[in-house]
Amino acid sequence: MSYLKTIEYRIIPTQSFTVIRNCSGCGQKTRFQNTGKFRVNANSSKIDVWLIYQCEKCRHTFNLTIYERQKNTNIPADEYQRFLDNDEQLAEAYGRNFQLFQKNKAEIDSKSENYELVKLQELIDETVCGSQTVITLQNPYHLKIRPEKLAAEILGLSSSQVKKLIAKEAITIRSTAQSVYISFSEISA
Ligand SMILES: [Zn+2]
Repeated sequence: MSYLKTIEYRIIPTQSFTVIRNCSGCGQKTRFQNTGKFRVNANSSKIDVWLIYQCEKCRHTFNLTIYERQKNTNIPADEYQRFLDNDEQLAEAYGRNFQLFQKNKAEIDSKSENYELVKLQELIDETVCGSQTVITLQNPYHLKIRPEKLAAEILGLSSSQVKKLIAKEAITIRSTAQSVYISFSEISA
């Protein structure tokens, strides 16, 4: 049978990132966790908002800057209220916001990058010659997962089986910061 199968997934983090940084309380590098709370400082018409992270060991805090010296008109009113309410869902969303960590130069503990694969679509085109499957995994959160590990997970194979298939050129894997592409004609592991 001839077909071109294209399958698309999105890699979604399932929990807040953990930050690794020097803790002044512990005097060494430790892991900081999302407290799920915000700190808001409203000074005249300028507003600062932080997401509060906390050392696992000594409870020293580290604030990730969300807004810095912003005019209150620049912050959506409903979001501002959610900051004041320490809205857990919003704190979780910011805790998985890769750009926020980059902006704050906060080092993400790659071991904290738990994720799930959400299938977006699967299309089959039977008008082509040959049989080919192309799997695209969007990685909008820039999680640092080895492409081989993703291939093993998607295909239900062990990582050594995947390595062998790559060596035999039965599978091709390409990756960019935003996506991983896995393609193969047929798999005989
Ligand atoms: Zn500490």
